[in-house]
Amino acid sequence: MQENTLSISVAVDPPTDARPQLVQGTVIAVSRGFYEVEADQRIVTCTLRGRLRKELVRAERQGGRRGVVAAKQLMRDPVSPGDRVEILLSDDTSGVIERIHPRERAFERTDSGVPATGTQTLVAGIDQLVPVFSVSNPEPHLGMLDRFLVLAEAAGLATAVCMNKVDLGIEPALADRIRTYQAIGYPVVLTSVSLGEGIDELRTLLSGKTTALVGPSGVGKSSLVNAIEPNFDQRVQAISATSGKGHHTTTGTRLFPLSGPDGGYLADTAGLRALATTTVPPDELPECFPEFRPFLDRCRMPSCTHLREPGCAVRLALRVGKVDESRYRSYRRLRNGEEE
Ligand code: GDP
Ligand code: ZN
Repeated sequence: MQENTLSISVAVDPPTDARPQLVQGTVIAVSRGFYEVEADQRIVTCTLRGRLRKELVRAERQGGRRGVVAAKQLMRDPVSPGDRVEILLSDDTSGVIERIHPRERAFERTDSGVPATGTQTLVAGIDQLVPVFSVSNPEPHLGMLDRFLVLAEAAGLATAVCMNKVDLGIEPALADRIRTYQAIGYPVVLTSVSLGEGIDELRTLLSGKTTALVGPSGVGKSSLVNAIEPNFDQRVQAISATSGKGHHTTTGTRLFPLSGPDGGYLADTAGLRALATTTVPPDELPECFPEFRPFLDRCRMPSCTHLREPGCAVRLALRVGKVDESRYRSYRRLRNGEEE
């Protein structure tokens, strides 16, 4: 820590007996100067301890000597939806953020600059993307599905595909496509809100994670959410009413807590819109197709685009059926910057 000018050490914990009770929570919304934190099933409107704000301190990693954390100065707002924090309650509905826990998972990758430009603040806090399509009415748009999966790969998000309305029947061709995604390693949940099928499976999948459900309108996203969380609409309204209190508008994504023993959150549409407009740099695209990965270092040209070069291992894999044609078409389309 010593030599790095961006790094400082902060003693955070006074002796235990003198320490006021801190409550663990999760930031669910951020607006200028205010943070909504869910803690113990309550929504608490918080400010940030001046010390944290001034230094823009984020604990880099836990551990080290007790009471001392390695901290790193960041240029951005140090708190995003999804961050785990410790708050000091002033009363039942307000408090102060005293500590910010180190981030894990997805958005840590974005901080190191790996994936799509501009994603860091937009999808911070979301750790799972679940594209939802219906088996028919409307017909599934699998080109769009591939785009979502690529975005998820680029941002390091977990994914599972939800195929809804299975009560309408699955065409053999679609069943085939579904098997392709499963073979790549993407879990596919088959659901029917009408029959109550697959709902438990989907609920389990969302449990303990912060998920963005994405997909075209009419596929049954709201119906699914209401099947999973029967009172979701009312709770969303209650939270919106609480947050209206301070006349501050939320910037970016808002998270809605799920009930259930392991918790979890669903992200609102602001995060999804941001995600949908994100683009992945062309040279990062091949890595975002997991089934290409075994072949990527076997192409003859070191900077192979896998579009036309001789000795391309990805296209050889395509010819022998180890890469699916429709997935490859999605790759080519995204690489060429074409619309779906
Ligand atoms: P959203 O736009 O993705 O939020 O979709 P909605 O939840 O509004 O649903 C669109 C339409 O599909 C509504 O008429 C729903 O009743 C219907 N729907 C939702 N889930 C199912 C399902 O599992 N089976 C069938 N047959 N219809 C469904
Ligand atoms: Zn190649």
